[in-house]
Amino acid sequence: ALLDLEQFCRDLIDEMQFNAGSNYQLIFQHQGNCEQICLDKKLLRHILVNLLSNAIKYSPEGGKIYLTISCQEEEVTIQIKDSGIGIPLENQKHLFEPFQRAMNVGTIPGTGLGLTMVKKCLDLHGGEITINSEPGIGTTATVRFVGSVLNRCKIDR
Ligand code: ATP
Ligand code: MG
Repeated sequence: ALLDLEQFCRDLIDEMQFNAGSNYQLIFQHQGNCEQICLDKKLLRHILVNLLSNAIKYSPEGGKIYLTISCQEEEVTIQIKDSGIGIPLENQKHLFEPFQRAMNVGTIPGTGLGLTMVKKCLDLHGGEITINSEPGIGTTATVRFVGSVLNRCKIDR
């Protein structure tokens, strides 16, 4: 079904901000018309909750986390950007394998399954993810959906 991605993200940011408390600042930005996008609510929620939770968890207190959506006719991108601990280069290629955690996580808790689930949800939905990260600078996760995926709702009645 068609989803108001803009409202969905606003609500999710409000919810996650409430849970994170005043130690973190979640900021929502949008470009283009994101009001009628062919995305599945449940899968999208799972994807974004995992990515936003990582952004919060791996950021120091006071950290800012940006959720930016950009909607064009044939392409929707969703970006989650933090200024947290980052991911060492040698650990970056294994992030989507279960139980893999980077060597710089220290005592930050985690199972190493979040990104594996995100990847599976995107496979189900039809969508891609790339993660760019620099240790000590931060991490940006970019989720992308293209035409063929976004046009499937047009066959809905
Ligand atoms: P969980 O299963 O609870 O999500 P997790 O957060 O450790 O545990 P993933 O979400 O799969 O597992 O992430 C895998 C690893 O990638 C993390 O352990 C961490 O090393 C690294 N990572 C993921 N997101 C970030 C981020 N935003 N900043 C820094 N490191 C990250
Ligand atoms: Mg995680």
